[in-house]
Amino acid sequence: MGRHVNIPIFIPHIGCPNLCVFCNQRTISGVREFDPEALPEIIERALSTVEEDAECEIAFFGGSFTGIDEGLMIRLLEIAHRYIEAGRVTSIRCSTRPDYISPRILDILWSYGVRTVELGLQSISDRVLSASGRGHTSLDEIRAVKLITERGFSLVGQMMIGLPGATPEDELATAEFIIESGADAARIYPTVVFHDTALCHMAECGEYKPLSTEDAILRSLPALRAFARAGVRVIRIGLSASENLSGEAYYAGPNDAALGEMIISEFYYENIRQSIDKLCLKDEGKDLFLTVHVSRGATSRAVGHRRKNINRLTDEYGFWRIAVREDDTLTEYGVRVSVERKKICT
Ligand code: SF4
Repeated sequence: MGRHVNIPIFIPHIGCPNLCVFCNQRTISGVREFDPEALPEIIERALSTVEEDAECEIAFFGGSFTGIDEGLMIRLLEIAHRYIEAGRVTSIRCSTRPDYISPRILDILWSYGVRTVELGLQSISDRVLSASGRGHTSLDEIRAVKLITERGFSLVGQMMIGLPGATPEDELATAEFIIESGADAARIYPTVVFHDTALCHMAECGEYKPLSTEDAILRSLPALRAFARAGVRVIRIGLSASENLSGEAYYAGPNDAALGEMIISEFYYENIRQSIDKLCLKDEGKDLFLTVHVSRGATSRAVGHRRKNINRLTDEYGFWRIAVREDDTLTEYGVRVSVERKKICT
C-alpha cells in the first residue's frame, strides 16, 4: 500500500446553526452551498491525480458533518461508500462537534465505512468554551470522546490556541485531555481572526487581543511537546496553505502558511538545546564541531527558517561548526547530538 491521501470534501456552514466567535466557515472553505450530486466528480478528479497504490480516504471537512440534515448526510455517505465497495478508497473520515455525537449517529457513520472522527475539542475549559460561543460544555466533550473511542473509531482531537479568555494552562489541559481520551492524532489551530465574525468585533473594541506569530509559536509549543511525548501524532498545526486567507477575509492573528513549520522548528531547537545541555560543556564551544542527528526528512526543521536554529546555537554556545545529519534510527522530533574536537593542523 502506498502513501495515505485524504480526499477533502468541504461541507460548508449548512450543518451548523452555531456561531462560534472565531468561525466563518464560508470564508475558510470558500464554499457556500453543497450539491451532493457534485460529489462523484470531486472524488473522481482527486482519484485521477493519485498513484494507483495510494491508500485513499474520503474526508468530510468544513461544518459539522453529523449536524447536517440527516437525509443529506446519508446521501453523501452512500455516495462515498460506493467507492469503498469498489475498492477505490479504504475508508471515510468526518469532522464534527461533540454535541452532535450520539450512539445512533455513530452507528450510521460506522455502517457506511466512517472509521475516523475528527472532533472539535477547542478547549476543555468551560470558561473558554463559553467565551468562544461554542454552545456546548466540557461534559459534552467528555461524553463524545468516550462514545467515539468505545465504538472503535479512530479519534482526532482538534484544539485551538489563543481563544478568548484562554490561558497557557487551559491550552495544556486541553492537549492532556485529548491525549487521555485515547486520540490517535491531533490538530493544533492557533486562532486567526476573520472579518465578519464576533471575534473580529471583540478585537476591534479591545475585548480580545489577537495572537502575534511569536505568541502562536510559544503557546503552541507545550501542546506539541505533550502530544509528542504521548506518541499522539500532530497531523496539522495552523491553517493549511489551501485554507490560508486572502487579504479580504483576514483581519488579524497568525495567518502565515509557514506557521506550522516555524512551531516544529522551535520544538527542534528546544530538543537540540536539551541534548547539548546534557553534555555539560564548559565554555569550549569554539573548539567543537557539533553534529545534530535527526530523523529522516527533518533537516530543514532542525536547521530552521533562514538557518535560525543554527544561528542561535552558534551565538549561544559558540560552536566552531554545526552539521545536521539524518539518521533512520531516530523517530519524529527525536534528536541526538555529538561533538568532535577541532583538529589543529601543524
Ligand atoms: S461548530 Fe464549527 S462550523 Fe459551527 S460555528 Fe463553530 S466552528 Fe463553525
